[in-house]
Amino acid sequence: MNVPEFFGADVFNESVMRERLPKATFKALKKTIDKGEALQPEVANIVANAMKDWAVERGCTHYTHWFQPMTGLTAEKHDSFISPTEDGHVIMEFSGKELIKGEPDASSFPSGGLRATFEARGYTAWDPTSYAFIKCNTLCIPTAFCSYSGEALDKKTPLLRSMEAINKSALRVLKLFGSDATRVTANVGPEQEYFLIDREMYSHRKDLIFTGRTLFGAPAPKGQELEDHYFGTIKTRVQAYMRDLDEQLWRLGVYAKTKHNEVAPAQHELAPIFTTVNIATDHNQLTMEIMKRTARKHGFKCLLHEKPFAGINGSGKHNNWSLSTNTGVNLLDPGKTPAENAQFLLFLTAVIKAVNDYQDILRASVASAGNDHRLGANEAPPAIISIFLGEELTDILDSIVNGVKYEGKRVEMEIGVDILPHFRKDTTDRNRTSPFAFTGNKFEFRMPGSKLSVAGPMTVLNTITAKVLDDFADVLESADNFQDAMDDLIKKTIKENQAIIFNGNGYSAEWPVEAEKRGLLNLRSTPEAVPTFVDPKNIELFEKYGVYTETELHSRVEILLDEYCKTLNIEALTMIDMAKKDILPAVAAYIKDLAKTSELAKNCGAPTDFEDDMVKRLSALASQTYKKLGALEDVTQKAHEIEDVQELANYYHDTVFVAMGELRAVADEMETLVGEKYWPYPTYGKLLFYVN
Ligand code: ADP
Ligand code: MG
Repeated sequence: MNVPEFFGADVFNESVMRERLPKATFKALKKTIDKGEALQPEVANIVANAMKDWAVERGCTHYTHWFQPMTGLTAEKHDSFISPTEDGHVIMEFSGKELIKGEPDASSFPSGGLRATFEARGYTAWDPTSYAFIKCNTLCIPTAFCSYSGEALDKKTPLLRSMEAINKSALRVLKLFGSDATRVTANVGPEQEYFLIDREMYSHRKDLIFTGRTLFGAPAPKGQELEDHYFGTIKTRVQAYMRDLDEQLWRLGVYAKTKHNEVAPAQHELAPIFTTVNIATDHNQLTMEIMKRTARKHGFKCLLHEKPFAGINGSGKHNNWSLSTNTGVNLLDPGKTPAENAQFLLFLTAVIKAVNDYQDILRASVASAGNDHRLGANEAPPAIISIFLGEELTDILDSIVNGVKYEGKRVEMEIGVDILPHFRKDTTDRNRTSPFAFTGNKFEFRMPGSKLSVAGPMTVLNTITAKVLDDFADVLESADNFQDAMDDLIKKTIKENQAIIFNGNGYSAEWPVEAEKRGLLNLRSTPEAVPTFVDPKNIELFEKYGVYTETELHSRVEILLDEYCKTLNIEALTMIDMAKKDILPAVAAYIKDLAKTSELAKNCGAPTDFEDDMVKRLSALASQTYKKLGALEDVTQKAHEIEDVQELANYYHDTVFVAMGELRAVADEMETLVGEKYWPYPTYGKLLFYVN
């Protein structure tokens, strides 16, 4: 496998552009990409034609505007390149207009009220900062998706707006340090966790098919307690899958880098090399799609749900985030000179303050029905936002605040004068329980769930950081003495934001108690977290930076809550179906056979303790299951009477979800008693410990 040779082979990237476009066209396009300048129609025509030729040579017949509606998935509508000629033939054509703008029918995508207020139609607009690529014989053009009145109907547009916000604010601050940078970019390396299970077994589980997670299932005799899976030898079949996946991703220019087994049985991880947040978002969407498609080929099902199995780790998407300049500086990397150090401290404290000030929306940006199972459970970070800095950096910040010597490395801390000890990554990277950890030269946001688009949390993180940097710039620009003002600002910021820094164990029972004392938010569920998007302070923030309008925010709240309700409704209905049609009949069949055996045995005078005892126990449990089933049916039915989406979401959380848990508990107990060949579904043991 000659990787350098085929890496990016399916991407219309810069080298292809350079090779295929006339010099002037290439230059004009580069300007558009680098500086966001509008593309002239003549230029667009030439680019479109070159793209089409390139794609057709590679077997493409269709093109699509590839976009990311608010479902968090990707959408595409394929159009062929054919254009009829007068003599009844066709030629392959693709115009600049078709490249730049598409008009998919927007009415079937969630718009959270935007459709009612605005036109049903929307349009997709080419995002030239993300390269076009080929997938399944189709030329895919990454686009943003907006309503006709310009409201963002997708995940990508606000992300691009937030990149602009952080660029502007960070440059303002950098200018004060005399930097000659002209562009600041937010980067992310999303570590993607997933489960692979046998496809044949999957096909027997209605819950996995309809909801992506198991709604019933007693624990297997073995779980993850031996910790023998993490970084363990990869099964041959899984290895073949990973190799195939890597190859496809590389062809698409995705920097797939690291792969390993995760903590839970049947759980794995893929991490790419980090890149700009908008490209990383596209690449992550592609990665998830290709993960699923490739699984089919290898007889697997790839589960991207945040919590497919109870009692076993869920899957996250750790977002490693940093800011860098076009002069090659990572702004979250402690520098080697005093000036660089001061700059680093300023950016570090800006992020700390941003996270503290906007815990609510950072938490809300990762809220979903699936992720609710994960936040706070085993291995996952808690729903409380806090920042892990590591002891060394915390000590340094403490000594800055107190104006005392930093003893650890025997250096006197005075901002902008002394050189920070260049702490090693491994002194900061050990805490796995923190939702937001500083890991040497970047922050790792560990709360996002495995299925979530990278765009949402990155949009929030960019915007809140932009806000604090702007506030900092306001103070520093008007200062008489820059050095003193910066000194005070850093000290003051650290002092005022101590509460958010926590280096301890985030899974411990003491932490929520301690966090409450500190006044930190603990937004446990989606219905609780999501509405914070429309708190006045948050509307003001997003409007100030042009990232979301108030209307766009309201639409997102509605969509997120609506999706939450629908997810829980589908789960409840699936449980009802499974219990009624499969589980209770299976238990009844087993009880019947036991009763028959008992009768026959009694005729021969043989002991029947086992049969009689089991018949009694299972009948009692079946009767309880039947009651819990009825209760779940009732509460699910009652949901239809509630109209207000917030009230409905609360109801699903407080009532339906609780009834689901009660039904599951009795059904799972029956599973441990019923003969395996009677049980209608593959067990956790079979799903998680499939044979190579
Ligand atoms: P690990 O967590 O396994 O120790 P790393 O932390 O080095 O591995 O990398 C995990 C992810 O963080 C990768 O996607 C990597 O590309 C990304 N990453 C590394 N450096 C940066 C950075 N400066 N900015 C953003 N992401 C980064
Ligand atoms: Mg990491």
